[in-house]
Formats: sequence, structure tokens, C-alpha cells
Amino acid sequence: MSQVWLIGRPVAHSLSPAMHNAAFAKLGLPHRYEAKETADDQLAPTLDRMRREDDVLGANVTIPHKENVLRLLDEVDEEARRIGAVNTIVSRGARLVGYNTDKYGFERALEAQVPNVSGSVGFPFADDTILVLGAGGAARACALALLEQGNNVNIANRNPARAEALARSLEVDGRHPEVVPWPKGRLQVDAIVNATPIGLNGEEALEDVQLPDWVIDLVPTAAETPLVKRAKATDNVTVVDGLSMLLYQAARSFELWTGVPAPLEAMRAALPRDV
Ligand code: NAP
Repeated sequence: MSQVWLIGRPVAHSLSPAMHNAAFAKLGLPHRYEAKETADDQLAPTLDRMRREDDVLGANVTIPHKENVLRLLDEVDEEARRIGAVNTIVSRGARLVGYNTDKYGFERALEAQVPNVSGSVGFPFADDTILVLGAGGAARACALALLEQGNNVNIANRNPARAEALARSLEVDGRHPEVVPWPKGRLQVDAIVNATPIGLNGEEALEDVQLPDWVIDLVPTAAETPLVKRAKATDNVTVVDGLSMLLYQAARSFELWTGVPAPLEAMRAALPRDV
């Protein structure tokens, strides 16, 4: 039996173990996905343990380690380096290689919603203005995906210095995200992406904000977040739920660890709600 770890804090609420263990069972693979609560000072020792143990296929990395883990790895895939964040590690012998599947998951989750809205296919935004809340690893992946599709990206973060650092380091064809204040009232944007954990404990991320046409909430919780609930109850607002991105990023990570196509429907069925 081999193991895959989830490295982060908090991870007790995570829906990833159920999804990946359902996928291993579906394909008859004798592997186990386990959450490992990991404080900041335990990140490097945990990676050292991964290097020593020869039955660890790899790991997912989640909040708050996605950026810090980069400098602790032996190799980082080019896209993950461009994003500046790693959410997936593959063990190659004693070498740890970092990847980012969040950007892929974000793109697929948005594309999956398009036929329901317009009957067409493809990425829903081009030359639009999108507000991203947060400036951590997930925000970086989403901001790069949106820039690559030709959009203007606004970034609002609790700590503005981190937003400035994100805006400086992400660039597509000379275009960078623009740092803006935390939103309130009526916004002149086409979509909003919540890439913070606000909502995990039942808080509303955007209490004072009139919602734009699209609301994308990355928070992957068993119960819908207050933001997702309000957006679904608002006319003409298209909602992308965090569980959808969770599913697609997980499928790509699964393929990196195992080298076989992910059983997407078995993974979807392991989620607590339809997405
Ligand atoms: P991260 O790298 O640790 O970044 C966290 C971000 O959230 C930072 O910008 C931080 O702001 C902000 N933040 C944290 N607590 C906050 C609060 N109470 N109020 C306002 N801002 C707060 O984490 P991450 O990996 O980017 O993950 C962010 C969220 O996205 C998590 O909820 C994670 O579960 C979710 N996510 C979901 C998926 C999915 O597949 N659905 C994939 C990736 C991430 P400061 O800079 O000011 O600390």
C-alpha cells in the first residue's frame, strides 16, 4: 500500500480524503490518502519524512503552505513556478517535485458552468474585469488563468503588501493585476472570485456588496457557504461552487501521482453535494 498526504492547516474539514480514497477504491489501487495537520514549523520536517519513506506517492499542499513550500522542493514544474505556488507534490525516489493543479481546476470549473448559462462552450471571460479576493496560492493560480485569457484582474487582500507582491510577480504580455481596496457597495466588475477561507466557518465574504453576474467561491465546504447561498438566491447570478474546482484539481493531481486517468464520476460521487 502506498500513501498520499494532505499537508496543511486546518485540514480536518477537508473533503479531499473521501474523494481520493473513492478514486483509489474504484480503480482497485491499494493506496490511502491521509490528512496531516501541519504547522508552519513542521513543513520542512514533513517533507524530509516524505523523502525518507518510500511508500509515499506524493502529497497535496494546502492553506497556508502553497507558496512557502516552493523553496523546500527539489524541483518545481514551470507552470507552478510561474504561478508562484504548489498544491501537488510527486515523490520521485527521494526527490520531491512540485506542481500546481489549482489553475487547471479553476479553468475546468468555470468551463463546466458555461453550457448551463449560454449553451456554448469555452472559458467564460475574455477582456472582462474580475475581482479576486485574496493574494495567497489559490489567488495566484486564478489570477494567472484570468490574465492568460485576456482579462483585467483586480486583487483585494486583507494584507495589501501581499497583494502588491502578487501583482508585481504575475505578468502576461506586460499586463499585471491591479491592487484595489476591499470591496463594498456596487462593483464595476463582471465577476468576483473568493480565494480566501472566508465562509469556512459560516461567515459571509461580501456582506456589503451587490453581487456581479458571476460569483466564484473557492471555499470547498460540505455545506454551501453563505456567499454561495446568497448568490444562488439572486436573479441572474451564475455561481461556481468551490466543490467544482476541488473536483477538477483533484483529478489532475490523482493523475500525476498514479499515471492513470482519474475516475471523475467516482470522485464526484464522493462529494457531499452535486456539482
Ligand atoms: P493561502 O495561500 O494561505 O492564502 C490565504 C489567503 O486568504 C490570503 O490572501 C489571506 O490574506 C486570506 N485570508 C485568510 N484568512 C482571512 C480572513 N479571515 N479575512 C480575510 N482574508 C483572509 O491559502 P490558499 O491556498 O490560497 O487558499 C485560500 C482558500 O481557497 C482556502 O479556503 C482554500 O481552501 C481555497 N481553495 C480551494 C480550492 C478548490 O479546489 N476549491 C483550491 C485552492 C484553494 P492575508 O494575506 O492577509 O493573510
